[in-house]
Amino acid sequence: MSRYWNSRVKGLDPYIPGEQPRDRKFIKLNTNENPYPPSPRVGEAVRQIFEGDGTGEELRLYSDPACTDLRTAAAAYFGLRPEQIFAGNGSDEALAFAFAAFFESRETPVGAAILFPDISYSFYPVYARLWNVPFTGIPLTADFSINPDDYRQPSAGVIFPNPNAPTGRSLESEAILSLAAYLETRGKVLIVDEAYIAFGGESVVPALDDHPNLLVIQTLSKSASLAGLRVGFALGHPDLIEGLCRIRDSFNSYTLDRLAQAGAAAAMHDTAYYAGINGKIRATRERVSSALGELGFTVIPSQANFIFARPPRISGSVFFSRLRERGILVRRFNKERIADYLRISMGTDGEMDIFLEACGNILREEK
Ligand code: PMP
Repeated sequence: MSRYWNSRVKGLDPYIPGEQPRDRKFIKLNTNENPYPPSPRVGEAVRQIFEGDGTGEELRLYSDPACTDLRTAAAAYFGLRPEQIFAGNGSDEALAFAFAAFFESRETPVGAAILFPDISYSFYPVYARLWNVPFTGIPLTADFSINPDDYRQPSAGVIFPNPNAPTGRSLESEAILSLAAYLETRGKVLIVDEAYIAFGGESVVPALDDHPNLLVIQTLSKSASLAGLRVGFALGHPDLIEGLCRIRDSFNSYTLDRLAQAGAAAAMHDTAYYAGINGKIRATRERVSSALGELGFTVIPSQANFIFARPPRISGSVFFSRLRERGILVRRFNKERIADYLRISMGTDGEMDIFLEACGNILREEK
């Protein structure tokens, strides 16, 4: 705490990202990164910027604030028009801007709260507090599902991930679109965060033309192995996209640099490569889910690139520490109902074999 902080900073409760250790080599199953390298076309596109005299001359110039080439590539990929696409510095930025653009703050006369699941992406309450947006957490059902009917009540808007994080459970498009229609009659926005849609579940992107209040968030961090390049999207009606641009251009017009725009556009052209690696991750997830079940874990059926599971007999915090001692990092959330669960990102098959062997050994030792 500093005397120089203003009251806004004093009141913040920032998001804590998963660890990125620099001291020792871990098997990293803690931040839902893709274990496979990005498409070789990404490297080629980024290197191209340093071709010619090799000085990266192009970097003298500001990047394109409208991300025209990237949005054109994204439009072809998503089957949308470029004006239905906002490109952000990671989908976190698209989310931060969406909270600022579409949800009323406490100071405005519209006082109702936005709704999101009580067990969900832990950045949502952080954004809500940052922009002073009132919110209510809607409890997941007993089996950790989102019940869309629970969101049919007066609100200032709704947001949830599909598949949900950290549970990995997904909802059918039909239920999501019916909720979008309900919210549209009330003049409210539905944000569906599809950060993990490349690994399962059904995207609602094809229905965007029918729902002017529906905003879909996607990211290249997991699906395109580009967490370090920081590129995400908001997809929706051009009026929603313009709202996001108004926030961006009141904040920082150049949120995506030239390297990111070029690399991301190249990735979006290589769908065959990504279908291959992401198919592999889905197969790994099914194999690891069964193996954990056999070890006695309670495993939530996942459509994402991670598994949410509770070890038998041993508390989540002890199991987390035992894995860490063995050089394996997973994620745990110290929160009611889920404190004994671990969120395990899918690594390569080799990494997951080491992980499963460690789980078996820990359970034997703690008997
Ligand atoms: N949404 C969800 C549900 C996530 O889990 C994450 C990853 N932490 C993000 C959005 C943000 O991803 P990025 O900013 O890397 O695009």
